[in-house]
Amino acid sequence: MSEFRFELRVCRWAERAWPPGERDGPVVVARQLGSTHRRWDTVVVECDPEGLRARAAFGPAALDSDLLHVVRDAPAEWTWYRDALPEPDYPWRYVREAIDRAADRDAVQRRTRSNRVEIRRVRPYPDWVRRVVAVENKPDLDAAAARDLRPQLEYDVALGLADEVWVATRTTAERVEPVLLEDLPVETGVLVVDDRSVSGDGPTTDARPPRPTADVVWHPRTLDPDETGTRVLERPDGGTRDRSAARFEYLSPAAKDERRLVIAERAYERGWRSYVETMRPDCRQFRLRGEGTALLPYCEAKCRGQTAAECAGSCPQFEPEPPAWRARGAPVEGGPGVAQRRLLERRRRRRRPGVEE
Ligand code: SF4
Repeated sequence: MSEFRFELRVCRWAERAWPPGERDGPVVVARQLGSTHRRWDTVVVECDPEGLRARAAFGPAALDSDLLHVVRDAPAEWTWYRDALPEPDYPWRYVREAIDRAADRDAVQRRTRSNRVEIRRVRPYPDWVRRVVAVENKPDLDAAAARDLRPQLEYDVALGLADEVWVATRTTAERVEPVLLEDLPVETGVLVVDDRSVSGDGPTTDARPPRPTADVVWHPRTLDPDETGTRVLERPDGGTRDRSAARFEYLSPAAKDERRLVIAERAYERGWRSYVETMRPDCRQFRLRGEGTALLPYCEAKCRGQTAAECAGSCPQFEPEPPAWRARGAPVEGGPGVAQRRLLERRRRRRRPGVEE
């Protein structure tokens, strides 16, 4: 089955049911996020409810690391910015640029006195992120896929950027799930997702198929983001002639804290429904189809759920919406493609309490 579609189902399940077992506060779910060295399939940010509401006052767009540097340390009283902010490990002029950007979006106040730029906070930046959880999605996890996945999971465990690392795979309904027999790091949790009753194929019907469910078959070990992380840069291939040593670098707890927050901010902005931005909802064959309460992409021409990669301008069956469709209600409403984007955006907004856009 398509990994893309499985990933969307895992995201929707996590939004509704994370953490497995008992609901404990709101979550923000996104896909394909991480750092330059490693991208996670699904990211679940467990949030403090009050903090999440307070975060909304900073707007729906993510604060990048430069903006966070300014916003988190902006003082309550007017202060010269160099006295207020920690010494950056890059030139101060970039900090001044970030102050301008932060002031433009009303995240701090800025003024010039005696040729000095002073800043003052508008509101404190809240402590809204409780935990960051990384999930790797492999619907068909056979021995070869597990072998390929293992170094990535070991990298995640050694770095400890996420509080927990999980693998989600599709249930086989066998007495012992085969994934448990695969050689995965013991620190990694394993979820088996049952989406057999949810079909992404077949013609469009009005009946709503049931939601996918998931069970924990292996609990993860909680990692410690407050400890120094180890990034494995290179490891020997393990052949009989390979006597080279692995190469590492270390990541301080402060650097990890900043990266976690940058990831959480990007998850906050994008959510998981941003998949539509890389697809072609302006194709007349594109539909959003209900699976339980989720809306997933569906292609009428292919009679199945399409992947993001195939739903592109290069698709041989791509057919632009007829101009007459787009003219309906234009320019305010646009055609069905615009309406479908809007629908997903509305759902994304509902996941960010307190945001006014
Ligand atoms: S025909 Fe191609 S471009 Fe159009 S919705 Fe289907 S996959 Fe996407």
